[in-house]
Amino acid sequence: MYKNGSGTVEIINFNDNEKSKLLKRSQLDAVDVISTVQDIINDVRARRDDSLRYYTEKFDRVKLENFQVKKEEIEKSLLNVDDNIIKALKKAASNIEKFHRAQIPSEWSIEVDGGINAGQIVRPLEKVGCYIPGGRAVYPSTILMTTIPAKIAGVSRVICCTPPQPNGKVSDIILAAAHIAGIDEIYMVGGAQAIAAMAYGTDSIPKVDKIVGPGNIFVTAAKKLVYGEVDIDFPAGPSEVLIIADETANPDYIALDLMAQAEHDPNAASVLVTTSKRLAETVSAEIDDKIHNMKREEIIRESLNKYGKIIVVDSIDTASKFSNEYAPEHLLIMTEDPEGVLKDITNAGSIFLGNLTPVAAGDYGSGTNHVLPTSGCARMYSGLSAESFLKKPTVQRLSKDGILNLKDVVVSLAEYEGLYAHAESFKKRALDVEKMD
Ligand code: NAD
Repeated sequence: MYKNGSGTVEIINFNDNEKSKLLKRSQLDAVDVISTVQDIINDVRARRDDSLRYYTEKFDRVKLENFQVKKEEIEKSLLNVDDNIIKALKKAASNIEKFHRAQIPSEWSIEVDGGINAGQIVRPLEKVGCYIPGGRAVYPSTILMTTIPAKIAGVSRVICCTPPQPNGKVSDIILAAAHIAGIDEIYMVGGAQAIAAMAYGTDSIPKVDKIVGPGNIFVTAAKKLVYGEVDIDFPAGPSEVLIIADETANPDYIALDLMAQAEHDPNAASVLVTTSKRLAETVSAEIDDKIHNMKREEIIRESLNKYGKIIVVDSIDTASKFSNEYAPEHLLIMTEDPEGVLKDITNAGSIFLGNLTPVAAGDYGSGTNHVLPTSGCARMYSGLSAESFLKKPTVQRLSKDGILNLKDVVVSLAEYEGLYAHAESFKKRALDVEKMD
C-alpha cells in the first residue's frame, strides 16, 4: 500500500479497510449527553422561566431576570458595527434572499382522471425558532442563513435564541445581522434549555412549530428529544468537506479548502479523493507549508490528524461512488469536466463546481444555505431551504363525473378494509348524483 507518513495529512491508496474508517468519521454521538439533556428539558417544562434562569447561570455564568433583547438595542446595534461588516452582511442577505426566493415551490392542480381534480397549495409555518450558537464563537452568518429563508417562506413569527455573552448581552454583530434580516424577537438563552423553551413554551418564550439551526452536542441532542412535539431541521454535527479532483485541479486551492474546513472544529473532516498521485503529494506538501501561518493552526492540525485524508483512486468514477457513500456536507468537484462528474452524484449537502468555487462562497455570500446535514445525513436530508418552512396541503374537488368515476374503486377498497362508513359516504353521493341525471 502506498502511504506517506510524514505529512500533516496522510496519503493512502483506496482500500476497503480505510474506507469503512473514513465513512464513520466523527459521528455526532449524543448518547452520552441524552440523560443530562432530558433532565434539562423536563425541568424547563416544569419550572419554565425559573429553569431558564437556573441553567443560564449554571452554563453561561450570567444571572438574567429577563431574556428578551430590547428592540431598541437591536436597532442601535448597527451603529456599533464597522461599516464594511454591515455592507458585507447586507450584500450576503440580499444574495441569500434572492436564492431562497427561487426555491419557493409553485401551487398546482391537475385533472387526475375524469372529474377528479387534485393539486397542492403552499402555506408557511406560523411560528419558527432559530437557534444561533454562541458558546465559543459568534456566527452572524447563521442568523442570516436561518431567518431569511423563514421570512421568505412567509413565516409570520420568527424568533431567535442565542446564549448570552459573559456580560449578559448578545453581541452587536449578531443583533445587527438580525436587524438586517428583519428579526426583532431575540432571547438570550442557549443550549438544551433554549430548545426546550421553544418546543414547549415558557412564561417569556413562545412555543414554536419548528426549530432550526446548528449547535453543539447538547443542542443537537435536545432537538432530537423534542422532535414530534415540534418539527426540527436535521442533525448538524461537525463540518465536513470531500473534494474530488483530477490532475487539472489547483493544489494550492485544495490545500486551503481542506484547512478551511478543518479550522471549524477539531472533529471536522476534510477528505481529498484524487486520481493524481502527483496532485496528492503536492497538496500534502502545500498543507505542511501553509499550516504554520494559519491563525487556528492547533484546531486545523487536530482535525486533519483525526479525520483528514488524501485518497488516491484509479478513476473519477471510483471517486464519485465513494463520495456518494460518504454523503459529505460539502462536496467540491475540481476536475476537467465538473458538470460531467455531477451527473453521477447522488448524496451531498451542497456542491461546489470548478477551481474557483470554494466552500467559503456558500458559507457567507453566494446565496445558498450553509446549514447542511453532516455525518452521512445528506443521504436522506437536504440543507435548510425556503421549503423547510413551508407545508404543502393537497386539495381536491370531485365533480358528478368524478364521483361516478371513482365509485367502484373507493367502495370496493373501503369494504375490503372493513371501513363501511367510508364506503357509504361515497355510495350515498353517487346515488344522489345518479338520481340527478
Ligand atoms: P452553542 O450555542 O451550541 O452551545 C452553548 C450552550 O451549550 C451553552 O449556552 C450551554 O447552555 C450549553 N452547554 C455548555 N456546556 C454544557 C454542559 N456541560 N451541559 C449542558 N449544557 C451545556 O455554542 P458552541 O458550544 O460554540 O457550539 C456551536 C457549534 O455549532 C459548533 O460545533 C460549530 O461548529 C457549530 N456551527 C455549525 C454551523 C453550521 O452551519 N453547520 C454554523 C455555526 C456553528
